[in-house]
Amino acid sequence: MASIQRINNFINGQFVSTEDYLKSFNPTTEEVIAHIADSSAEDAERAVQAARQAFPSWSHETITKRVYYLNRIADLIQARLEDFARAESLDQGKPLWLARTMEIPRAIDNFRFFATALMQSREIFTPHPTIPNVISYTVRNPIGVAVLISPWNLPLYLLTWKIAPCIAFGCTCVCKPSEFTSVTAGMLAQVFIDVGLPPGVVNFIFGVGPRAGQALITHPDVNVISFTGSTLTGYHIKKATSHLPIKLSLEMGGKNAGIIFNDVDLTKCLPVLLRSCFQNSGQICLCTSRLYVQRGIYDELVKKFIAEVKNLKVGDPFDDNTKMGPVVSKEHQNKIEKYIELARQSGYEVISTGEMDENTKKTNKGYFMMPTIILNVDDNSKLMTDEIFGPVVCIVPFDTEDEVMKRVNNIQYGLCGCIWTENIGRAHRLATQMECGTVWINCWMIRDLRMPFGGIKDSGIGREGYPYSEDVFTEIKTVCINT
Ligand code: NAD
Repeated sequence: MASIQRINNFINGQFVSTEDYLKSFNPTTEEVIAHIADSSAEDAERAVQAARQAFPSWSHETITKRVYYLNRIADLIQARLEDFARAESLDQGKPLWLARTMEIPRAIDNFRFFATALMQSREIFTPHPTIPNVISYTVRNPIGVAVLISPWNLPLYLLTWKIAPCIAFGCTCVCKPSEFTSVTAGMLAQVFIDVGLPPGVVNFIFGVGPRAGQALITHPDVNVISFTGSTLTGYHIKKATSHLPIKLSLEMGGKNAGIIFNDVDLTKCLPVLLRSCFQNSGQICLCTSRLYVQRGIYDELVKKFIAEVKNLKVGDPFDDNTKMGPVVSKEHQNKIEKYIELARQSGYEVISTGEMDENTKKTNKGYFMMPTIILNVDDNSKLMTDEIFGPVVCIVPFDTEDEVMKRVNNIQYGLCGCIWTENIGRAHRLATQMECGTVWINCWMIRDLRMPFGGIKDSGIGREGYPYSEDVFTEIKTVCINT
């Protein structure tokens, strides 16, 4: 068994121990792989004060210097890519190849992208339309201390999506990664030391939401919170901060629909559909969990989809052939299993299939789940309205465009959706009507970081990306001069 790491807080450029520690498990073996600082309100206080003290100097740092740091951070993660990918896979259960080819590279891109964005300017300078000799212009000031809270499903990818713009636009921050997956955040703190990032610019507080997180969100010296996680926690943060002048960006849960019309080419559509339902064991906020299939191809699609899922390899995340590792924790596995049980009790057809590797079967360890398809589910069932966030997809038929759009939109979530059709007019029409933040047409999860990212309804408030993240981390001001 590998040695157990200790993940300490990172405050004012130094690793700092705490009184209590939490156990962090490898979801594949169920062994403890790390002891994570279980931070208290006092630890959170120290981190906020460090960020506060670092703010005046960092917010006045030259743009070129900030660009330098962002690029150096990207270089060092790149140099340690394999270590980061292995740690992410061990800690979260995702296939190593996925961490290596998609998630850690995206963390690197996050820093490079905002380094480039920093060299742009959106400010305006304009004469007054009616009053002579008056000119106005805008300036942006970094907002201050940010609290950045991230979930466990894409740990480094999502945390760096917040840190990079935050420090690029001159804020300092305290980060609270998920207690289930804190290992790569600890490694990132070491990168900050190695590139010489000034102490206090980025601080990490590890531990559980209701203790460490709660102390951060209600701290009077915090100016902005950027949160990604469940809708329940997002709304809790909104309520807890309602009496404070804190800016919020909330990226929350989803229950995303895919609509597949009779005219699709199934050979092109199926492999992407499969990924959109089961990548990272369905634990991506953008995964498709409701598939609406037009009646003309319903039987054929269901048959072919099940055949593909049958071949999906489930098992050791370090095996290159594995498509699905375990889910993140025992608690999460129990939650998903309850939904599958509900489907059985409700009399729906439940198909749990896939191919588990022999070794995983033999060891009988790990929070493994087989990919599961549920057919002909009632639109009002919790299976169609709750976010399950696991390898479970409901497939239902539909007849007409109007009917399907009403059914798809009749839900409280609004993160993203997919439309599969060869009819370009219909694709545009429905993309406009779909109530969500991102629509993919004949594809899934292609991200252009210059596009706004976020959700509507219970899926979120605000948008991130460039230039949108600049609005999160800065305040824009008008200056008017009578010359
Ligand atoms: P979660 O809400 O349980 O936890 C998210 C983070 O919030 C964790 O770091 C947690 O410790 C912290 N937290 C919990 N209670 C808190 C409190 N009282 N104060 C401050 N912080 C607190 O979510 P999760 O289970 O880690 O992640 C899964 C969820 O995240 C899913 O709902 C998924 O859809 C969502 N998600 C959304 C996006 C998006 O971009 N919209 C991306 C990824 C994940």
